[in-house]
Amino acid sequence: MKRVTSNGFGCAIIRSLWLFLFLLASACATTGSAYRDGRFTIINHGNFSSAEVQRVSEQLEIGAKALEHYIGPLPAHKFPVVVNLRPGRGVSHSGQGQNGIELYWVREVRAPIIHELTHVLAGYNASNGHWTQEGFASYMQDQYGEDDAFPTQKMSHALVKVLGEEKSLLPMLEVMKDRNRTTYFGLGTPWERWLAYTQSTSFCRYLIERYGHEKFLKIYNTPFGAVDFDALYGKKAEVLINEWSNHVAGLSSDSTKARAVFHNMKTLLSRK
Ligand SMILES: [Zn+2]
Repeated sequence: MKRVTSNGFGCAIIRSLWLFLFLLASACATTGSAYRDGRFTIINHGNFSSAEVQRVSEQLEIGAKALEHYIGPLPAHKFPVVVNLRPGRGVSHSGQGQNGIELYWVREVRAPIIHELTHVLAGYNASNGHWTQEGFASYMQDQYGEDDAFPTQKMSHALVKVLGEEKSLLPMLEVMKDRNRTTYFGLGTPWERWLAYTQSTSFCRYLIERYGHEKFLKIYNTPFGAVDFDALYGKKAEVLINEWSNHVAGLSSDSTKARAVFHNMKTLLSRK
């Protein structure tokens, strides 16, 4: 039997092995399952610290608990929810709740963690429209999330008040009728998209706070034409929209921050 001694060949193997282990370790540092429990799998694609990963996991738990209060028992088949943490300034998404969550803005504490979780757990069919799904997701984010996330950054009513003063409101009834992102919710019209998201969030907040979440969940993820507002709310959609507009216009909170966000968004998102 020939003994393998520390010759050049052996060293080459050992060097290769070390190099392999080093590359593997580097790869794991940027991409790898950073957190896993029975409900959530968080994958780190951007050297996020363990504190950042931990923060995301805690926000997911807070969001799940809050959602349970609104929608009842969470759908078991949706778990585990996979969350990909991405560096940079991308647009977070979850394929309308059908896929894993692609999450940006974590480092800046501006990630829509609970917004995307709401899409996954509450359900979302684009063919049913967008205003209740996007509105509810941002309501949940604003109400229960730590992050000041796009689109409303915890001030949907103040933003809508500014939109009214600036004569920038989209016709809400048309926003409610948009399905499959054919008009305002489309990616090709970023400014109108932001307006539609913002108005939807504020209107959903109004309906939930004024009439209760039980009624709201009866219209959630339902096409506009299939909702009988009269039977449910005792009022037509147009009347509810007017009520909401008057309520928001009458709020007396300081709108300095909302006005700054409005101008920033308009500059950033308006098509030249
Ligand atoms: Zn969304």
